Parts: sequence; structure tokens; C-alpha cells
Amino acid sequence: MTVRLDRHSTGTTAFSERYSVTISFSDLKLSEPLQQALRDQDYETPTPIQAQAIPYLLDGRDLLGIAQTGTGKTAAFALPILERLANERRQPEFRAPGARRARALILTPTRELAIQIGDSFRDYGAHLHMRKTVVFGGVGQKPQVDAMMRGVDVLVATPGRLLDLMQQGHIRLDALSVFVLDEADRMLDMGFIHDVRKIVATMPKERQTLLFSATMPGDIAKLASSILKDPVRVEVTPPSTTVERISQSVMYVDKGHKIALLADVLKDPAIARVLVFARTKHGANRVAEQLEKHQIPADAIHGNKSQSARQKALEGFRSGATRVLVATDIAARGIDIDGITHVINYDLPEVPESYVHRIGRTARAGAEGIAISFCDGEERGYLFQIEKVTRQKLPVVEHSFSGMVAPRQPQEQRGPRPPQRQGQRPAQANNGQRQGQRQSQGHGQALPAGQRQGPTGQRPGGQRPGQPGGQRPGQGPRRDGGARQQVVSAGGRSSY
Ligand code: AMP
Repeated sequence: MTVRLDRHSTGTTAFSERYSVTISFSDLKLSEPLQQALRDQDYETPTPIQAQAIPYLLDGRDLLGIAQTGTGKTAAFALPILERLANERRQPEFRAPGARRARALILTPTRELAIQIGDSFRDYGAHLHMRKTVVFGGVGQKPQVDAMMRGVDVLVATPGRLLDLMQQGHIRLDALSVFVLDEADRMLDMGFIHDVRKIVATMPKERQTLLFSATMPGDIAKLASSILKDPVRVEVTPPSTTVERISQSVMYVDKGHKIALLADVLKDPAIARVLVFARTKHGANRVAEQLEKHQIPADAIHGNKSQSARQKALEGFRSGATRVLVATDIAARGIDIDGITHVINYDLPEVPESYVHRIGRTARAGAEGIAISFCDGEERGYLFQIEKVTRQKLPVVEHSFSGMVAPRQPQEQRGPRPPQRQGQRPAQANNGQRQGQRQSQGHGQALPAGQRQGPTGQRPGGQRPGQPGGQRPGQGPRRDGGARQQVVSAGGRSSY
């Protein structure tokens, strides 16, 4: 079965106005305590994955969900799980002293995601009496062991610590009725698949299983076929769809001027909450430190920081106390924070898919966002690949350092490296990269008229980098020229 959902192009950010979905939450046969929790959260309309997945999950079906964080997938599985648990008869034994068992397990790759999923279960289950606990490494195990001793309804865990506690005899999965494997492709990337298989081997065969993954590499397809029974397949939001909602631009800048440009860009008060991406942990620290020298408070988050330092940085960012958070790709994987107004790629990622994941942080919950990428002479090839994958050409924004070349890097005065392949970029065919550079130096017009970003040196006082082309975020350059659509497919037997 294939269902098409027309998306309005009104430029508003509310879910209910973005998706004309034929059902509402009241059609979803969720009991009153859950409906009340949805009202508490001000959710009006199910997101496509919720609309598609919840009815099947309430029927007890297994599910293969191709979806990434930001699509509303947590509620898509949490709501039917809570409904199921609330209706299950066999509750008391899970609450007996020494129970050590859980009724539902959500396995997720990072601590941050585990905490966020735990918080979602708390919110959605606010009017039900469910016990939940979150288990992850990097912190003392005693509170987790104590919580398991009392028995829990919902256990959210990362694989390493879960396996550890299972091997110590503190957790048993032999009475599990629902299992969710979240972000399966990241599990694979992070080397957890072996642990996942060991964990699954201890579960009862009779259970409901859900697997979510943003992509479907061969190993995940194999895993899916071994743990899912006759699953429904639901697929939402291919990366390019998310990308369309984000107003994107590029600033050509010499490497030696990046930090000064960043400090200048951040003067814009419209940049209320910004995630800045650096390629390395060391680079992330350096950017945060140098911003402090420019009197711009910033925090950094990356894998070398302790769990408590990472949590503190995230909390500061979430609460609004920290306006600028500098992150690496890996550290940002667990970040799910609404209201990020801007993403700035201080360094361009080497892999185009990372670009899509990065900028997706500013388009949460149907909101539209702004992404600005700095591109130095050595990064032109990365930009070329990004534009190819996202099938858009990024408008070039002028700035105070356009055309300036730092004396320490004389090789860049000779101009940028040509792209790996030719053609395909309407404004930059053949000598495209050079044209882009020339425009940033104020000598030419690299972009078609519709995408031109205004005369050189217009800033300050002209268009702000936060809103390329003087457009509001919701009015960013459109590629399709017409009503946008999103395709959601569900049903049938999975081919895996
Ligand atoms: P997720 O993909 O589960 O991480 O959800 C992304 C964000 O969307 C979270 O901040 C949720 O609170 C929010 N969200 C999920 N479902 C809805 C909905 N139906 N209406 C509005 N916001 C939602």
C-alpha cells in the first residue's frame, strides 16, 4: 500500500498545517490517558510515521521503520507500547522485589538518545502508572541495578551497559513482550551489532519487534529479516525532503579567516540557538575557545568529554543558557533539541550524508531552519559532492572577508581546487568553482539572477547571513516550483 501525503507550502511551522493527514490522534484508538498526554504536549496531528505506524503497532504487528530522528518516530513506537503495556494483564510479577525484568526494551546507540527516549516515555506515560528506567554506560551502575531489582515496565538502554548488567545477572529479558531496536544503522556504525545479536538471543521468541533505521545497508537488512516476523514497512522523510525545508547558503572564506567570520556572523541576533559543526574534537574545542576570546560564550560537545560534561553542555543548550554549541558529527548524533535556529558548518563534512544529518538539526518537528556552510579552498570538492547529493546549488553569501586571503596560506591565492567531476552545476559548469570564488571577490555573478545574493560588501546593513537572499527561512530557494509532496509507504510483507 502506498499513501501520498500532500504537504502544504504555506511557510508555517506547525505540524498540523504542514501535513494534510487524513487522520487525527482521536482516530488512532489510543486510550484517554495517552490522549491526555498528547494534549499536554500540544500535539495536534500525528506526523506521517505516527499516522502510518501506530494502527499496525496497536494490532501487534512487527514493524520495519525507515525513518530518522526528527520525524516523530519516538511517539510512533512509545504510544502503542504504552497502550499495550497498560492493557496487559501480567503486571504484578514485574513489580515484585527482585524482579529484574522489563516488559518492553528500547535499545538505542547513544546515551543522549537513551535519555531522550526515557523522557518521552515519561511525558507520554504521564497519566499511566508505568515504571521506566534508563540504562547506559559512563555512570555508576548501582541506581540502574536498584531500579531493575524493583522491576520495570519500560527499559531504555544502550547495548554495552545492558549486556554488562545482563552478564552480571541484574537484568533478564526472558519475559519481554516488546522490543524496539532504534537507529539500527548507527548501531552498526558504532560496532554494536554483535552485542545486539547477543541481547536478542536471550529474548522470548513470542514478542512484538520494531526496527528503525535511517538507511538500510545489507547487514541491517539481514538483521531485520532474522528478528522481524512479517513486518509492516513504513518509510518516511528521505533526507532530501528534510533538506528542502532548510534555507541553505555557503560562504567562501579563506581558512585563516574562518573564526573571524564566525564571530562576525554570530553578531546577528536572529541567530538565537546555533549548532556549529567542526570536523575534529580538537577543532571543536579550538572554535569554542576562540569564540570566547571574541566575547562570544560557547560550549563544545564531543566524545572526549565526560558524560557529565556532555550532559551539562546539552542542558545549557537546551535551556537556552548556551547560545552557541560547537559539536563534532559523532557527538551531535544524540542531540535532539527543538528550536535550533541555525546550523553553521564551520568545517564542511567529508561525507555528503553527514551534511544532511547536520542541517537536519535545525528543522525539527516540521520547523524550518537555516544552515550556513563555510567553505575554504580545500573544501571545494566536499561542497561539490554535497550539492550533488542534495540536488541543489547552494546560494553564495557575501561577507566582510570575501576575497581576503590569509598570508599564511599562499597556495590558496592561486584559486580553489577544481571539482572532481565536471558539469551538473548550472551556475558553475566547467569553471564553476572559480566563478563562485570570483563572485565572492565581487567581480562576477556566479549565480543565476534568481539566486543572486546581493552586491559585494552589502553587509553590514544589507542582507544578513542568517537569512540568505533576504528571504525568511520559510521562503528559501525552491527547486520544484510547485506543491511539495512526501511519500509514505506502508504495508505488505517486507522483502527482507
Ligand atoms: P523524534 O523524531 O521522535 O525525535 O521527534 C522529534 C520532535 O518532534 C520531538 O521534539 C517531539 O516532541 C516532536 N513531535 C513528535 N510528534 C509530534 C506531533 N505529532 N506534533 C508535534 N510535535 C511532535
